[in-house]
Amino acid sequence: MRKRSLAGRISFAAATRWTPRPLAAQPSRGFLSITFDDVPRSAWIEGGAILARHSLRGTYYLSGDLCGKTFEGREQYHRDDVADIAAAGHEIGSHLFHHLSTLTLSHSRMQEEITANDAFLANLLGSAFRPRSFAYPYGEVSLTAKRLCSRHFGTSRSVQGGLNGAGADRDQLRILAIDNLFAKDVDWRTIFRTVARDNLWAIILAHGVDESDHEFSCPPARLDGAIRHALDAGLTILPVAEVMDHLTATP
Ligand SMILES: [Zn+2]
Repeated sequence: MRKRSLAGRISFAAATRWTPRPLAAQPSRGFLSITFDDVPRSAWIEGGAILARHSLRGTYYLSGDLCGKTFEGREQYHRDDVADIAAAGHEIGSHLFHHLSTLTLSHSRMQEEITANDAFLANLLGSAFRPRSFAYPYGEVSLTAKRLCSRHFGTSRSVQGGLNGAGADRDQLRILAIDNLFAKDVDWRTIFRTVARDNLWAIILAHGVDESDHEFSCPPARLDGAIRHALDAGLTILPVAEVMDHLTATP
């Protein structure tokens, strides 16, 4: 977690307490979404290959400004990758254009960041494309950002640990971190059995998928192992927007 100013801490706390759109009901079964942020190119090359081996699709939250660049010491996705990721059936979500903490952004700058990233993605994926799902860069949530995102996106994802059930905050969804910094010894089997037993929605947050010791990477075997435990537990694994479709469908 980044160091926050006092004003930032107050804004984050206020935003976290405000739940404008709680999930109305418990899911009818256990769900898992696999999400990648930024994204490092390995999330597509290695992570995408793992998902493909299991015939699964995930959610990639892209920041337009990171395209083709090096960020946090890693090669990020290439321009041509975006259409390939979408063509493989994965969901493309938004992560703001400049990957900025929303605690640093005014209302108008936040709106500009959303609009610029929408335009970047529409340029690559067709003018009709609009991302349905959002992830806050660094998990930093201001009241202003949350209000704007709740109007613009179907869901917004945090970096706070936890599982999502009835009453969960769809504008600040909770995650299970799989990066090296957090998840070297996670008991995925037990967690996913709980998700299945209690009809919850788990969301894995990954960045790079590689053998490095980078704090924001996970080794391919860890991602593959977590997926195997989720499948063994009987979880339905879908991109974030498609889980929301299930949760909001009228019976
Ligand atoms: Zn990020």
